[in-house]
Amino acid sequence: MFEKILIANRGEIALRIQRACRDLGVRTVVVHSEADREAKYVKLADESVCIGPAASSGSYLNVPAIIAAAEVTDAEAIHPGYGFLSENADFAEGVEKSGFVFIGPRPETIRLMGDKVSAKQTMLKAGVPCVPGSEGSLPEDPAEIVKIARKIGYPVIIKASGGGGGRGMRVVHTEAALKNAVQLTRAEAQAAFSNPTVYLEKYLENPRHIEVQVLADEHKNFIYLGERDCSLQRRHQKVMEEAPAPGMTPRMRTRIGERCADACKKINYRGAGTFEFLFDEGEFYFIEMNTRVQVEHPVTEMVTGVDIVQEQIRVAAGEKLKHRQRDIEVRGHAIECRINAEDPFNFTPSPGRITSYHPPGGPGIRVDSHAYHGYFVPPYYDSMIGKVIAYGENRDQALRRMRIALSEMVVEGIRTNIPLHQELLSDTSVIRGGVSIHYLERKLAERAAERETK
Ligand code: ADP
Repeated sequence: MFEKILIANRGEIALRIQRACRDLGVRTVVVHSEADREAKYVKLADESVCIGPAASSGSYLNVPAIIAAAEVTDAEAIHPGYGFLSENADFAEGVEKSGFVFIGPRPETIRLMGDKVSAKQTMLKAGVPCVPGSEGSLPEDPAEIVKIARKIGYPVIIKASGGGGGRGMRVVHTEAALKNAVQLTRAEAQAAFSNPTVYLEKYLENPRHIEVQVLADEHKNFIYLGERDCSLQRRHQKVMEEAPAPGMTPRMRTRIGERCADACKKINYRGAGTFEFLFDEGEFYFIEMNTRVQVEHPVTEMVTGVDIVQEQIRVAAGEKLKHRQRDIEVRGHAIECRINAEDPFNFTPSPGRITSYHPPGGPGIRVDSHAYHGYFVPPYYDSMIGKVIAYGENRDQALRRMRIALSEMVVEGIRTNIPLHQELLSDTSVIRGGVSIHYLERKLAERAAERETK
């Protein structure tokens, strides 16, 4: 095992990784920006290094500064968390070239999965079901594009190969709108991702978002930890997640899980990863793979008892996974609410000082948050200040515990989206389970219209 790991991230995930390290007896170095100097998790780390100004371009995305910090502190490995540099193949390569271990997949795997066209082609070859669409990137010739779209059938969605974070996508309903939309998406993709490559997919009208968590080591062990349902999204950002997915049968879980584990074997995957699918009328359609730990990993940890972050570290240290597939059992139900510093109605960010903070507790409640009484939420980063996770013997109990937890939780001085979560937890469709990826947006539109007429 490593003696010392550098954590190249901030906020709740920096704290989460730190906790995993401490449990494994590994010392930690946290790098931070000037804006995060006072954060408690920075003080809790064995060492900390300020690597730059508040703007993440000069700090959390500053590769030379992060590698220099690892050098001066004698860290052996670097954990990238999620976001920032976590899916940057050049960073992973730079870390390894400098003699450190990157806690994640091989750089070439990150590169392969980071490009959506190559990711999809790879998965098709590995036997993973994908959304019907163009074979690879779209050609230049508009007549050819029209032919491809006709074959897929409208509506179609144009997606940028280099896209991410819900950007670089456009839905097209008619042939008349196609040519223009392709041109626009190409131009946007070039501007945003320096890559004009786009491809076409069938646009699924009412799918759910269901993803499969996998783990792989370098001793030929490839396992899956069941699925998560992350259909409650706003602007393609997940708001609430749960495991298992409502309505999923053990047979369906095994079928898709085995496909994913087998694909990992075929691409020689290493570490933790997530296969994201759209799920429609009982079928899974692969959309992309995330080659890192995800925000919503705790719901899987709660129902399987596997510490995903510790497993990432073990694998990076060359050890075997602690669990075999036959040991993995999905027990009970877990729900996660992402707590954001934002207005619960218009979603404008609400940074500032937390003047009063009382986290919930009790049986089955887990709070992953770096926030505390007096913490100043900086305006420079993502608005998420933590996650509340509720575990129950079954979905009803998890829902009940989450409602109680949120009713106990106090965050004052800033606005949070807790009221939105409370509304969702009393919504009959959410309580029934299995809503589509459009459900939240539609509900929010209705809510806005109601407020207008009042
Ligand atoms: P990103 O990398 O930007 O997150 P994804 O490919 O994961 O992009 O897609 C993000 C979201 O966009 C999905 O969760 C889904 O809501 C929607 N989406 C993507 N592809 C399709 C599709 N073929 N049909 C319907 N919705 C889609």
